[in-house]
Amino acid sequence: MRETCASCTPESVLVYVHVPFCVRKCRYCAFVSQTYSVEAVQTYMALLEQEMAWWAGQYGRLRATTVYIGGGTPSLLTPAQVARLFDALERFFDLGQVREITLEANPESVMAPGFLDTARERGVSRISLGVQSFHDHALRMLGRPHDRQKALQAAHAVRTAGIAALSLDLMWGLPGQSLEMWHDDLQQAIFLEPEHLSCYCLSLEQGTELAGCVLDNTLTLPTEECAVQMFEHGCLALDQAGYEQYEIANFAQPGHICQHNWGYWTGRSYLGLGPAAVSTMHGKRWTNAFSLDAYAHALAAGILGKDAEELDAHTQLHEMVMLSLRTSAGLDLSHFQARAGWDFLHCTSSIVEQLCTSGLARICSNHFSLTREGMLVSNTILATVLECMDHYASAGNM
Ligand code: SF4
Repeated sequence: MRETCASCTPESVLVYVHVPFCVRKCRYCAFVSQTYSVEAVQTYMALLEQEMAWWAGQYGRLRATTVYIGGGTPSLLTPAQVARLFDALERFFDLGQVREITLEANPESVMAPGFLDTARERGVSRISLGVQSFHDHALRMLGRPHDRQKALQAAHAVRTAGIAALSLDLMWGLPGQSLEMWHDDLQQAIFLEPEHLSCYCLSLEQGTELAGCVLDNTLTLPTEECAVQMFEHGCLALDQAGYEQYEIANFAQPGHICQHNWGYWTGRSYLGLGPAAVSTMHGKRWTNAFSLDAYAHALAAGILGKDAEELDAHTQLHEMVMLSLRTSAGLDLSHFQARAGWDFLHCTSSIVEQLCTSGLARICSNHFSLTREGMLVSNTILATVLECMDHYASAGNM
């Protein structure tokens, strides 16, 4: 890690806290999580405080612009543990100008007595609720521990508790899911009037139970044609309900985009706390150890972030293009030129022209962005654009 000095300390960071506990593993999950136990959470809380103290020792009391407590299942924390977590955040970070505090929660645990009240009292401004579906058989197929009724009750409880904003996570492209089922899920979600919706296409991760079921044909994914219809239908239904699509999978009522995630997509520095949390600061990226034991060892040895990856200029430019093209605003061409020292459109002119002519991308107000049709094939487009950039670089232009 870079030695600490006033001039290299970032002005402000996005702070992410990973709470790695779940009641059980969902069948599609490839995130780092472990089974909840009272003892493990107690150990985790102490280690988390230790980590915050370590970074405060390195960088002083960093100013947090946003705080995002994700997981795992943060709603498994008791009210006392939530309060303890915020005590530590307030002690080791400057939260005076924090713009947003998000807490992820799952329907089966968010209604535990005192949880939401404590969250509100400690400044949580958004609850992101992992609903995924309002169909009980889809929830069972995904291995989620809640049902439709719990999801509805949980959304209601967030409102009753007076949390400023509610975000719902939904999934499409599920085995056995029809366009009609997806339509129902969207209509139910819209009826609840969340300020924000994240709609993710199921991504089958190698080694998960669900991926195995699709491989051996026990479960069948919707056809590609149906998946395209689901994406387009979701975008249109949410348009009509007054949500703005500001990223491939994210939709918000005016003034309610997720500031924390927006920070990731626009290249802000972030500090991740807890096992498996990722940080990017000072052009370096590191990931904390996954298991509690290895995390404890890294803390005791004072080696957090010691194996950080240096993000060279080439990687940073690639990431800037990849992340900004996920957003509806797209790539700010002036910003790119200032960072790269060369003109994005000049180096990618042939491919950009082709993409714009075929309706997959557009150039507007000095931004290059993907249309919805383009977002559907964003991986292919990105691969082509990045290859074009690399070709330009290898010709000695960078
Ligand atoms: S609740 Fe989230 S993190 Fe936990 S097992 Fe399910 S998908 Fe994974």
